[in-house]
Amino acid sequence: MTASSAIVIGAGISGLSAGIYARLNGYDVTVFESHSQPGGVAACWKRGEYLFDGGIHFLPPADPNLDIYDLYLELGLEYLPTVPMNQYCRFTDIEHRTSVDITDNLDDLQMRLLARFPEDTSVIYEILSPARSMSESDTTNFGFDKPSELMGIRDKVSEIWQMRGFMRFMFGKYALSAEDFSQRISNPVLRDIVKMMFLPEVPIWFISMILGQVASGQIALLENGSISLVSRLVDRLTQLGGKISYRSEVKEILIESDRAVGIRLEDESQHRADYIIPAMDMHSIFFSLLGGKYVSDNLAYRFAKWDLCRPILIINYGVAMEFSDEPWLNIWKLDSPIRIGTEDVSYLMTRIFNYGNSFAPSGKTVIQVELETDWDYWYNLHEFDMDTYQSEKERIASEVADFHNQFYEGFKDAIEVTDVSTPFTMWRYTKNYRGAYMGWLPASDLLMTRFKKKIPGLANCFLAGQWAMGMGGVLPAIYSGRQAIQLVCSSDGRPFQTIQ
Ligand SMILES: Cc1cc2nc3c(=O)[nH]c(=O)nc-3n(C[C@H](O)[C@H](O)[C@H](O)COP(=O)(O)OP(=O)(O)OC[C@H]3O[C@@H](n4cnc5c(N)ncnc54)[C@H](O)[C@@H]3O)c2cc1C
Repeated sequence: MTASSAIVIGAGISGLSAGIYARLNGYDVTVFESHSQPGGVAACWKRGEYLFDGGIHFLPPADPNLDIYDLYLELGLEYLPTVPMNQYCRFTDIEHRTSVDITDNLDDLQMRLLARFPEDTSVIYEILSPARSMSESDTTNFGFDKPSELMGIRDKVSEIWQMRGFMRFMFGKYALSAEDFSQRISNPVLRDIVKMMFLPEVPIWFISMILGQVASGQIALLENGSISLVSRLVDRLTQLGGKISYRSEVKEILIESDRAVGIRLEDESQHRADYIIPAMDMHSIFFSLLGGKYVSDNLAYRFAKWDLCRPILIINYGVAMEFSDEPWLNIWKLDSPIRIGTEDVSYLMTRIFNYGNSFAPSGKTVIQVELETDWDYWYNLHEFDMDTYQSEKERIASEVADFHNQFYEGFKDAIEVTDVSTPFTMWRYTKNYRGAYMGWLPASDLLMTRFKKKIPGLANCFLAGQWAMGMGGVLPAIYSGRQAIQLVCSSDGRPFQTIQ
């Protein structure tokens, strides 16, 4: 009998992608999602007149000149509205009274950095030369076309060819983390810029790549927020005949003779299918849904040794003010840190949603501030001291508003709505282990690792999701769903289809 059905667990970007490719290949598919909404961490929520977007900052635009355009066509994303980024961020160091704009013109950026930090001339060239080369290559395709299980020598050569424009910058000193690389920098302000532009753990080539992508328009802002991407994926899936079952938390993957045959939901109902694709947090897949039975030494090592993406507190303010001259992202190095639990937080990331008309009515703006914080602190407060959980949210939101009031006159008085989500909130709505909203921390070696999607010892179950790619991001999530269905097709001896 020909296998014909698949169950996907999770309606995040990876699960929606898996559902779409399952339908394109003729499988009946239902996506089971524990939340009442799709999108997972790519979440938007409405508060009064304001739309808060707690997800995606930027992604490649739907540009026919980019390699990933074909992927967008497969998924119905070809008309995704985006706004070009003419600036990556403004970095402001309060103690040193310095602001530096990281803009899209690399010549201008180089000139300003050399003038401002002459003592670090050689390091500036070391970062900007690869950025310039990368801006001339297509860096949107990371060689995710096939799962590693299906890659032969020819595919590996083709992957190297696809990545030829930037591969030479991925080794040697360029593989150092941004933080380690920044130790070579004499000026403390430039050191902080390099360390904090993305995450301190990403390799320095990743920072050069972002600069190159901004310069060449290979990344852009979502004009109408994460919801515009997610709703297109949902539309594509449902138009193809796929189903989504919301408020359906899966608590067990049913197994017979080491073959996945279905799922059991929280309400004890059982659903059977030929293939099961978990597209969600990997800790829950292995230790909860599979009951700890298929934990390989390799996986146990990862959970013991690899760092998770640090959780964040996200504060959204709906403000009756305009911020038309501000860059979309401000990174602040504070002179007096904000205390959260036992930690001092010295950096704030302020997203200013002053592009697009979806986030706030005319004359008003959504301002979002992200602070890295600790999982255990918020988890313990939520479990054992709810009053302090609430009051801490309010105190931090108030301190952060005071801080912004110094730079934007009248900010505090203009706040109409405040919304704070903690790492616990992230877990509650998306189930990502310990609030790790992008899975594993994308260190140099992880970015170079190709993860297997087959689970050793278990048939008919293929992993999708950001955790199964070793890096978070819209494209890895999309490709993870695509790769899982490539493995399904391969198991059935069918050619993998990407068109209807
Ligand atoms: C603040 C923030 C900024 C980001 N910025 C960017 C960016 O600029 N560019 C970029 O490319 N990426 C960015 N990302 C990352 C990107 O959004 C994610 O990598 C991607 O959305 C992950 O999708 P996923 O489907 O793998 O996982 P998830 O979004 O975690 O989806 C998993 C889904 O599974 C569901 N689920 C979990 N357990 C169960 C269960 N037992 N039963 C049923 N359902 C279950 C969850 O509810 C969830 O909907 C950002 C993320 C965040 C949070």
